[in-house]
Amino acid sequence: MVSLTDVGRSYGKGPHRVEALAGVTASVAAGELAAVVGPSGSGKSTLLNLIGTLDRPTSGQVVVDGQRVDRLDDRRLSALRAHRIGFVFQQFHLSAGVRAVDDVADGLLYTGMSRRRRRDRAEAALHRVGLGGRLRHRPHELSGGERQRVAIARAVVGDPALLLADEPTGALDTHSGALVVEVLRELNASGTTVLVITHDSALAASLPRRLVMRDGRLVEDTGPATTTTTATPPAQELP
Ligand code: ADP
Repeated sequence: MVSLTDVGRSYGKGPHRVEALAGVTASVAAGELAAVVGPSGSGKSTLLNLIGTLDRPTSGQVVVDGQRVDRLDDRRLSALRAHRIGFVFQQFHLSAGVRAVDDVADGLLYTGMSRRRRRDRAEAALHRVGLGGRLRHRPHELSGGERQRVAIARAVVGDPALLLADEPTGALDTHSGALVVEVLRELNASGTTVLVITHDSALAASLPRRLVMRDGRLVEDTGPATTTTTATPPAQELP
């Protein structure tokens, strides 16, 4: 799903040059759930922005969903982003005064679906994150955790292959954060690849894989979770 080869990203020039990322090589397979951890300023957001095609590397290769991000033109890059990638941020970014169902339905504007279908899909996505009872609530009528779940519903309403979350629990209390993590786990269980930047060491430790950043470098990668293969029973013949 994601493959990074010797990726670097620097900002500025001359004495002001900052190497936000250097020599990062890693890959994440479809269906994984991984945490990106490391101190503030270690390059986590820069990494997520590159994977999310919001930015291009200054060196190295980034492949997302089979496409070379460093080679796509802007139009193709935004198409890849719109159709295949969902984003969730620490500060939910919901539109003030807009009902949850409409905010989530707006996540499908690019598809050209009818308004009716967008609303139906939005309602289904809100049910999926446990907010079936909050369809017509506006952001100020929702708790922080509920707002974040609306933001997740909007990120996944188009059924992206890859969900990128930057500190999704950073602004939440423990209980709301746990519910948000539960939603991310469920999405992953149904097939979405999920990458989560987190400062929460308990959350990171509970995820199957951790990518540890320091000073723009990937200093530790616990690697893909080893899956225990169980024998699949033979498929039943249909009469
Ligand atoms: P993290 O997400 O781990 O806190 P970032 O990826 O945001 O780290 O930042 C990595 C480094 O790159 C930091 O030193 C930061 O100051 C620098 N940086 C990030 N974005 C920019 C930018 N747009 N311009 C200049 N420097 C930046």
